[in-house]
Amino acid sequence: MSGSVLELQAADTMSDQLRHRREVLAEREQVQAAKNALLRWNEARTVVRRRLDELAAEIQKIEDDNTKLDKQRDKLHAQLKTVIAPREAEALQHEIATLTEQRSASDDAELEALEEHSRLETQLEELLGQEESLTNEYLGAESALAEAESDIDGELERIAERLKGLRADVDKPVLRKYDRLRKNYVIAAAPLSGSRCEGCHLDLSAAEIDDVRETGAKNDGVAECPQCGRLLIV
Ligand SMILES: [Zn+2]
Repeated sequence: MSGSVLELQAADTMSDQLRHRREVLAEREQVQAAKNALLRWNEARTVVRRRLDELAAEIQKIEDDNTKLDKQRDKLHAQLKTVIAPREAEALQHEIATLTEQRSASDDAELEALEEHSRLETQLEELLGQEESLTNEYLGAESALAEAESDIDGELERIAERLKGLRADVDKPVLRKYDRLRKNYVIAAAPLSGSRCEGCHLDLSAAEIDDVRETGAKNDGVAECPQCGRLLIV
């Protein structure tokens, strides 16, 4: 019977370890990392697209302004041909020069916007090219996690089945005590190893060892550690 309690403990410990392993699966971190990469990618794509829209609007506005500037300049040129007074001509020429300067600054701004637009289009193309691999990575990580979880779940089910049988083999009062101890301790039943309780790792005195051996002899090898109160199998 004492062997059964230790077997029960071993199966419960294995079950605990499997549950812990399920919680800290590296595959879960990989799913999170792949998900984050996908979110970052999506964010980058949104930012680039938004800026491309802004630039397109900016370029359109510059071109509209240029058309107005050109019309204005053509009008002034036509006026210049008809004026005779040098002072008036000078004023018109000055105005034309100002418009020419504005047109030149506008061309520079448009060129800059066009260059940025072209750069971002290349960037967007690169980003769109990453979509498939990032998505596949995420889906792959998810299925790897599902597989790892299902492997562990399968093992847990087998252990749960074994636990039923092991629990049926343990005397009811011992089992009740075991269950009560398991609420506070991961290890509820431990063997006496030499003079040491393998539950609390403390050494028992010679008198204590005599006591637990005596109790064990009367209870199928099941005693209680005087230090920690765990089931001590002697
Ligand atoms: Zn102990």
